[in-house]
Amino acid sequence: MAGDKRASNRLIADDAEGRVTVDNSTAALSEAVMNELDLFTSDTVSLRGKVRRKTICYAVMDITRPALTAPCGSAAASAATSASSSATSSPSSRAPTSGTASASPSAPSRTQGIAGDLFRLYLFPYFKNTLRPVRRSDRFLVRGHMRIMEFKVVETDPDDCVIVASDTKLYCDSTNPVKREDEERLDRPGYDDVGGVQKQLGILLYGRSGTGKTLLARAIAAESDAHFIVVNGPEIMSMMAGQSEENLRMVFREADEKVPSIIFMDEIDAITPNRDKTNGEVERRVVSQLLTLMDGLRPHAQVIVIGATNRPNSLDPALRRFGRFDRELDIGVPDEVGRLEILRIHTKDMPLVEDVDLERVGKETHGFIDADLASLCAEAAMQCIREKMNVIDVESDSIDMEVLNSMSVCMDHLKHVMEV
Ligand code: ADP
Repeated sequence: MAGDKRASNRLIADDAEGRVTVDNSTAALSEAVMNELDLFTSDTVSLRGKVRRKTICYAVMDITRPALTAPCGSAAASAATSASSSATSSPSSRAPTSGTASASPSAPSRTQGIAGDLFRLYLFPYFKNTLRPVRRSDRFLVRGHMRIMEFKVVETDPDDCVIVASDTKLYCDSTNPVKREDEERLDRPGYDDVGGVQKQLGILLYGRSGTGKTLLARAIAAESDAHFIVVNGPEIMSMMAGQSEENLRMVFREADEKVPSIIFMDEIDAITPNRDKTNGEVERRVVSQLLTLMDGLRPHAQVIVIGATNRPNSLDPALRRFGRFDRELDIGVPDEVGRLEILRIHTKDMPLVEDVDLERVGKETHGFIDADLASLCAEAAMQCIREKMNVIDVESDSIDMEVLNSMSVCMDHLKHVMEV
């Protein structure tokens, strides 16, 4: 909590530590914060994200929480808050419960290939018996049937906020998806998609391939709304004489023009081998070009360079000196808790049969790295789909919702893949 900026009935939530287990329409607050803001559980609060817009949620007291935890999902998508970003919150007067709310799918590409009634399959179950508050222009995510569907609240009446209750008229215009300019933002990973690491937001990431270095760098860029540029070490080095340096200069120029930016240098050991151990003139020139460019960045601080390698000891030591890659993070192999988090992330959009015991899978996958666990989950889903091949019309361009609806991943699917 940042006390200095606090006004009465308003709070600034710092980095909200801890896992978010709350529902899309609720913000979990500690008892102290509830008292301070004079709130009772189920009061509506207005939430404002650090970067973007406002949304509305219910306050819920959570005695295990030290401070405000911003909600994920709908409110996060709307207000650009997430489990780990800042939000200001203030009580809002009660929104009307009888009125009209209309929503349309807001990411057209996600409705492609689906035949079925989006209202019945997504919107109705999402709002049924929940009294969810919505604000006009909110975007919210509904998970189910192996995908995440994003909707936008296009109209509300009589106010810009309404609570969707049994006498609210709810409409869905699925034939007319809202065009979303920054649709790809949805696909960018956030910190919530990275399991098994405790916010290791460092500069030089090292660890085996598939342990999530790229994912972490992308998550940092997405969470901080930074422009993200990937530089692939071996690719840069395979360029014609002089081109490697010129390319590096172009990358740094682009980063400078589009601040805040993150330059991610994958397999950086290819660009910066130890100069003492290499005879190559090209390598020497490229290393010193990179050092010059990195030193040139210092005053800006709005450009961050993240290097990734699985061979940290083969880097030129000059790179690891103060002011360059002076923070190093060993990403390592996930432990049992990390494995379980990763399994949860990769199964969150899958309908799971009750017999699925992810904790057991986490225990029994000792030695699996992050990418292995991701493909374990994907393979289990494939196994489930394979079993349904006889009812899928492969000639058709779309899959019937009812067929998708009947697919659920069970423990046997997971076991089958683990045993292969
Ligand atoms: P690296 O850059 O270390 O080779 P990647 O970031 O490309 O690894 O990871 C490969 C895939 O493994 C990711 O796309 C993601 O699906 C999964 N993955 C890796 N790390 C994690 C993690 N910490 N949590 C969840 N999934 C992960």
